[in-house]
Amino acid sequence: MTRKRLRKNLIRILFVLLCFIRVGTVSGENGEKLTVGVPVDRCPVFYLDDQGNVVGIGADLMILAAGNAGYTVTFRPITEKTLKDALDNPVYDIVMPFGSAITSTAGQPTEVSDNLIRTPFTLVTEGNRDLPPLNRLRVGMLRSQGGVAETVRTLYPGMEINMYETMSECVKALRNGNVDALLHNSYVWSYVLQKPSYSDLVVQPSAMFSMDFRAGTTDTPEGNAIIERLNRGIAEVSETQRQAITLDYTSRRLYRYSLSDYIYMYGWVILCAFLVLSLAVMLLIRRQRRNRQAQEEKVRRLIDEDPLTGVLSMEGFRKRVEELLKENPDIPYMISYNNIKNFKYINDSLGRAAGDDLLRFWVARSKDMLGEEEAMGRTAADRFVVLYHMKGDEKIRRDITDVLEPVRDYFIQQGKENRVQLCCGVYVLTPEDYRNIDVDRMLDCARIAERRVRDSHRDGYEFYNPDQWKIGQQTGAICDHLSVALRNGEVQVWYQPQTDYAAGKVIGAEALCRWHHVSLGWISPGVFIPLLEKAGLIYELDSFVWEQVCRDLQKWNRKGLRFSASVNLSRSDIREGRDIAGQFRDLVKTYELSAGQLRIEVTETAFTQDAGLLLQTVVKLREAGFQVEMDDFGSGYSSLHMLKEVPVDRIKLDLNFLSGAGNPEKGRIIICHIIRMIRSLGMKIIAEGVENESQAKFLRDQGCSEMQGFCFYKPMPVQELETIIESPDMEDDD
Ligand code: C2E
Ligand code: MG
Repeated sequence: MTRKRLRKNLIRILFVLLCFIRVGTVSGENGEKLTVGVPVDRCPVFYLDDQGNVVGIGADLMILAAGNAGYTVTFRPITEKTLKDALDNPVYDIVMPFGSAITSTAGQPTEVSDNLIRTPFTLVTEGNRDLPPLNRLRVGMLRSQGGVAETVRTLYPGMEINMYETMSECVKALRNGNVDALLHNSYVWSYVLQKPSYSDLVVQPSAMFSMDFRAGTTDTPEGNAIIERLNRGIAEVSETQRQAITLDYTSRRLYRYSLSDYIYMYGWVILCAFLVLSLAVMLLIRRQRRNRQAQEEKVRRLIDEDPLTGVLSMEGFRKRVEELLKENPDIPYMISYNNIKNFKYINDSLGRAAGDDLLRFWVARSKDMLGEEEAMGRTAADRFVVLYHMKGDEKIRRDITDVLEPVRDYFIQQGKENRVQLCCGVYVLTPEDYRNIDVDRMLDCARIAERRVRDSHRDGYEFYNPDQWKIGQQTGAICDHLSVALRNGEVQVWYQPQTDYAAGKVIGAEALCRWHHVSLGWISPGVFIPLLEKAGLIYELDSFVWEQVCRDLQKWNRKGLRFSASVNLSRSDIREGRDIAGQFRDLVKTYELSAGQLRIEVTETAFTQDAGLLLQTVVKLREAGFQVEMDDFGSGYSSLHMLKEVPVDRIKLDLNFLSGAGNPEKGRIIICHIIRMIRSLGMKIIAEGVENESQAKFLRDQGCSEMQGFCFYKPMPVQELETIIESPDMEDDD
């Protein structure tokens, strides 16, 4: 029994020893050199190890056989596309592997060695597939296996063999159905099929055939000598050695996973991990950002907020006011500086806590009154500053009743005798304050007014700039009240007739609006028109006037009194996207007028601003049949260029040249030439502001017969105009 086991163990040791046979052990250190060209893309038959040496079943077998024949082998990876090409390269003494003798690419016959090992060739398919008979099979092979392909072709002439450069191309062709199966050495399959993404490929169970594994060279005397000598070495290779070498390589896990393999195998895991990680990073960043924002907010509050009352600190108030003025340049604001006159006495007599309560109460009351676009700050113990909309007397009254009075009576309401004395100074912001925002300067002004109250030994409030306050009040009263005024008849359309002096008859009228304000009384267009223009409200008024004029013209048309009127178009009426010409077209249609009955006056200065849009509007109005007039010509900076460029029908010449300051004689000369020039340009002309007979005669003598002015008629209510146009003279003229 023991002997038997000993013998068994000895065989095992021998087997292991054989497995470790490598160059040098068999070949000897000083053997003759033999350069062998081999492909290196056929793991485990031939491949490069980590050090770049050619290794594999084929390599070990060759080392063993060549060593037996007294050669020391040096392998060179072949660089040629096929073994057939490599045969023609003299750097290789021999090339391998070959199944049988073939002809080189250059047409050289070859001599091949004896068989080193019989290698099984197997078919691989995509899944378990029924294959057609071998003679009708379409197979895919690596191009570098051209030699094997030739052998296969002789064995199976009906087989279609397609060659591909790489294994991945082979697999692609298989998957696309371009071939039925792939053919390769079984040892190589044992390696290739370890690739995870090839897990769907199946080896067809029965080996298709075995192929010899030989070395070869061109049929030359030297080549033949090498082959002959090599064959002797091959003959010495035992079957056990062959098996040991094969087992050695086929039992190793040689396949190394690439990045794409890992992605294939763990794609979902990697994706999920990536998503989870990204989410975690995002959450972390968000949290950090939120923490930072909270921190910043905390710091900002510490700087910008008053800890006792929660209103803005001086710094915060300054910033907020700057922001609000920049964001709302059209809101009229005022700023107040408020102080409790007897605060020290309150603290001393009622205690600090009572003083703090009073401050908090004041803030609570004020905050209820403040809107989003207003601000309140505390600058010192009992000093509060407030920026608020100027909304007229009503707002001030509410401030007094809802804030100041309750604060004054705060302790009295608690049954104590202390009446709080408040001193307030108010500064009304001017347009300059919006252009150059200087909060400290505004507060200084408010503080000066507050001091005036304090120094006068009374309490209450005072304005630093009462005139500005009045202007602001008036602006508010006009702009805030416009819509109501238009509805309840405060705004009326008056007319100033225009005459032909030479003919002595009325030829039309200009519509001029008049406003009898419910609280301000009669206000002049010279006052309210610029305010409405600035507030962006003039269009509301003008649309009202245009419609009223059309209504009047319709009424007169129906009476058979054909009349025409001019209306004023403000430059602020013209805006991108607003179709003024379309609006006039609609009006004449609605009121059944002819376009010639309406003349549209655009002030001369308007042409110097936003010229492009204005010109477009003028062109469209004229195309629609309306007459366009250039108003106030001569009162601004008239330009000859404008006369050339602007396509108007009539010029309204402002008689400022005659009545204004300066040399009247020069004025006359200028007017004389202007009239001539305008007539030569083919435009009509009407003089406005004609105040006396001598002006009228002068104008007539210069060829300007159409006139408008106090010399003839002042602007009048519609009823008065009707008596003029209904007079028999007018009817005759018609
Ligand atoms: P304007 O269009 O140049 O109108 C002529 C102004 O000159 C009118 O002033 C008129 O009363 C005044 N006037 C007429 N004859 C004489 C005169 O002999 N001597 C003097 N010193 N003045 C005379 P009013 O009605 O106060 O209008 C002033 C301006 O307000 C108008 O100038 C016009 O630009 C504007 N306006 C009036 N109504 C409207 C309107 O409904 N819409 C628009 N956008 N502007 C209007
Ligand atoms: Mg006018």
